[in-house]
Amino acid sequence: MRIHEYQAKELFESYGVPIHEHVVVSSAPEAGPAAERLGSDTVIKAQVLAGGRGKAGGVKRAKTPAQAVEKAGEILALTIKDFPVEKVLVTPASDILQEYYIGFTLERTKREILLMMSKAGGVDIEELAKNQPEAIVKFPISISKGIETEKLKPIVHDLFGTGRLSDQAFPVIERLYKLFVEKDCSLVEVNPYALEKGGGLFALDAKVTFDDNALYKHPDIEEMKNPEEYSRDEIEAKKQGLSFVSMDGCIGCIVNGAGLAMATMDLIKYFGGQPANFLDVGGSSSPDKVLNALDIIVNNRKVTAIIINIFGGITRCDDIANGILMAMDRIEIDIPLVIRLIGTNELEGRKILTDAGFQVAEDLSSAVQKVVSLSKTGAGGDR
Ligand code: GDP
Ligand code: MN
Repeated sequence: MRIHEYQAKELFESYGVPIHEHVVVSSAPEAGPAAERLGSDTVIKAQVLAGGRGKAGGVKRAKTPAQAVEKAGEILALTIKDFPVEKVLVTPASDILQEYYIGFTLERTKREILLMMSKAGGVDIEELAKNQPEAIVKFPISISKGIETEKLKPIVHDLFGTGRLSDQAFPVIERLYKLFVEKDCSLVEVNPYALEKGGGLFALDAKVTFDDNALYKHPDIEEMKNPEEYSRDEIEAKKQGLSFVSMDGCIGCIVNGAGLAMATMDLIKYFGGQPANFLDVGGSSSPDKVLNALDIIVNNRKVTAIIINIFGGITRCDDIANGILMAMDRIEIDIPLVIRLIGTNELEGRKILTDAGFQVAEDLSSAVQKVVSLSKTGAGGDR
């Protein structure tokens, strides 16, 4: 789960990481009084769930409240990486002497947390890693040991010198680490961590993402969730307890088991089709799940054909068949449907469906080829 800069900065503040005061507004005129209150010379920043806002024109300096209104209006008219800008943050402009980078990520393969730091912050870190990898220091942290102060000190001294700056930076690094661990983050990034003319170091930008699988432990974080991060389908599927990921294609997929769902999507691609979604209806035999899944998929106007691929283990094919019939009864489905059912109670399941006039495939690759061809000719493109 991603959050906006202003939300990440609230977290920073609660962890004692220095940030500047700011006001978040959702219309241009509101930026005027905000700028006035913050000392006139301000920076206006798009609040979108995407990085690289600076390059996209989403970060602008305003010298006066009138300019703040003008720039806020310009930024609010932008769409950055598919996110229409709905809010901007107004914050006092700082005179920056140096931009540092501090970032924590998970190094899954090594089961470590990786701290990355650089004196050459401000720019895109991926770009820096490509063009100037030597400018980034990497400091792996064992999750069981935490930060080993004596090992980190010399590295911080290298970057920030041995004086006052290190004294400011060191506890900030420790607090960011604490945030990373306590809130089950997958990324905590400060870019730039800026040294300002007055001698202070401040987090001018804040990027925090969370491990979705740990959200249940953090209701305070879950509350920060922004609906624009998820498609309408994903939100609906989540409510229904389905594992669902939206994709760009036109073939709706209802599959039981994540592995089979992945394999089905691979086969669709292999035969030249494009999946509209990943959907695992799970191992339980609940006709309701099939009904809910069909409902979500049918509401996606891009979908031109649907494949239901069930390998019955715990899931019983007759339950799935009943779910399909129930769904057909309750929702109008004018999209071609290809069903493949094998496994537990497959004969019963197939009979239920063939009696109701459906064709049921036994063999996966012919079922997939059929749905791919139907997706191209079926309902005829965008419905
Ligand atoms: P990003 O492009 O999405 O990473 O957005 P940032 O918040 O990092 O802003 C991009 C750049 O704008 C920063 O690297 C800074 O150079 C500049 N910037 C951001 N905030 C301020 C500020 O308060 N004062 C000044 N002078 N520059 C800023
Ligand atoms: Mn940044």
